[in-house]
Order: sequence, then C-alpha cells, then structure tokens
Amino acid sequence: MARRKMLYDGKGKTIFEGPEIGTVIQYFKDDATAYDKQKQAILPGKGVLNNRISAYIMTRLENMGIPTHFLKSLNMREQLVREVEIIPLEVIVRNVAAGNLCTRLNIKEGTVLPRPIIEFNLKNDDLGNPMVTEDQIFAFGWADPYELEEMMAMSWRINDFLSGLFAGIGLRLVDFKVEYGRLFGEMGELYLLLADEISPDNCRLWDLKTGEKMDRDRFIEDLGGLVEAYERVAQRLGIVPEGGIIKGGSVNEQLAEGLEEIENELARQRKLKGIKRTNPTNPRKI
Ligand code: ADP
Ligand code: MG
Repeated sequence: MARRKMLYDGKGKTIFEGPEIGTVIQYFKDDATAYDKQKQAILPGKGVLNNRISAYIMTRLENMGIPTHFLKSLNMREQLVREVEIIPLEVIVRNVAAGNLCTRLNIKEGTVLPRPIIEFNLKNDDLGNPMVTEDQIFAFGWADPYELEEMMAMSWRINDFLSGLFAGIGLRLVDFKVEYGRLFGEMGELYLLLADEISPDNCRLWDLKTGEKMDRDRFIEDLGGLVEAYERVAQRLGIVPEGGIIKGGSVNEQLAEGLEEIENELARQRKLKGIKRTNPTNPRKI
C-alpha cells in the first residue's frame, strides 16, 4: 500500500488521508496521556479495544438516529470515517459526580446528580481545555445557537441511549465527552455529525455491582489493569470473544484481525437527511 499522508497526530489517535475525498482514517494508538501530557504511558492493546468499542457504539447510535462520522472498520487499529470540520468544543454530559466536578464544586465522588448536566470545554490543549459558557461560545463564534442546540439535543439522546446500553451489561455511565463536526453539502448546507470516538477513554464506566472503575481513570489514578478493564467492557458488549484478545500483556494479532468487521450500513447509505440546514446564519470559511 502506498504511503498515506498523515493529517494530524493526536494524543490517542493519528488521522490519515482517506481513500476517497471526504473521508479520513483514524488510527487508534496505545498511548495514554493525562495532565497535559505530564503523565504518559503506552498500554498495549488499548488502541485495538478503543477502535472496536467506538466502531460498535457509533454504529448503534447511527441506528437510533444519531448521525455519526463512522463508516467502517478497516483493521484492528483503523477505521474509515467521514472527514468533518471539528467544532472546537468538548461536550460533556454527567449523570454522577466524578472528576473535576468533584474538586471544583466540592461534591463527593459518586453523588447522583439531581439531573444530568451538560458542560462545554474549549478544545485547546495549550489552555488546558477550559470550561466555557454558551455566551462565550456564540460571542467567539466556536458554534452558533443552532449548532449548539443540535449538539445538546444529540448529546441528551446519546446519554439516554448509552446509559441504557451500559446498564444492560452491568455498567453505570457516570459521564462522557463527545465531539461534533461540520460537514458541508454540495449546496453549502450544513450537517452536524458525531465525530472523534466513544470509548472508555472518554466515558466513565463503573461496574454496577462492585463500583469498580473500568475506564481511563484506571490510568489517572494508577489503579493498573486498564487494558484488561477495557477488554472486559468489550467482552460484555459481545464484540470480542469470551477468551479475549489480549494475551500475556499484548494483543494476539491473529485473534484481533479475525474479529468480525463492523460496518455502519446506514451512514454509508445515508443521503444525509434529517439534520440538513440551509442558509446558516453564521457563514463561515470552508
Ligand atoms: P487530540 O490529541 O486532539 O485529542 P486525538 O488523539 O483524539 O487528538 O486524535 C483525533 C483528532 O482528530 C482530534 O483532534 C479530533 O478532534 C479529530 N477528529 C476526530 N474525528 C474527526 C473527523 N471525522 N474528521 C476530522 N477530524 C477528526
Ligand atoms: Mg482527543
């Protein structure tokens, strides 16, 4: 295969040029980082599991009407997605207090929130992804009111759907972070798609019975066994075999490459309807 052009090398993934215009390839790395890269590690197998979990969840979401960027899995570490213009916001939905909500507001970890809460962080590593208000979002043009409303509506639906999906496999969805992107149609119309990834790297998942953390906090809090926990999440979702694919601390490549391909039939067929919006009020560069 010809050498592909790398478009962006992120903390957890690398983005390569895709085979067709309007597509890119997401390569899932084993790198784990925290605290502005002050804490780093390579956790063999994490990328393979996140690739698979994200592919599966995006496909499930697509099937219940959330438009996503995911098209198909290519191999154990890569997936084909639609290229979008990422909106520079992290949308966070919280059901239970954890992470910086606890430290900022002095709330005990594990407190069930009176109702789910949505927050926005500016996607800017240099600034430490600061929390921003709706007014700041509109004033600085990171998103317009239509986009924000759409992103919030989708995020609430994602929260309900994923809470149920995970509860069904004995996991509590404590909170999660998603990113959205813009796709411009031929007539200049705008579509918003769920982009990036949904995996235990950006969802807090606690075992319903034991409270055990099965997400990225295992790395942040030095609990160990992160890859094993991610693998158990994938096993419970039924997307890796009972025997697992991590053997002796690394991926059994034969097993991993032999996994059934995940394809987002709807996204591939979809003529991008439903979220079409013409005449964006906030014309922007393409
Ligand atoms: P980061 O270090 O910025 O978090 P990641 O390791 O998450 O980077 O790599 C993925 C990068 O690609 C992110 O910056 C994300 O916003 C971006 N991205 C995700 N999905 C798409 C997409 N469909 N099209 C273009 N860029 C995307
Ligand atoms: Mg990221």
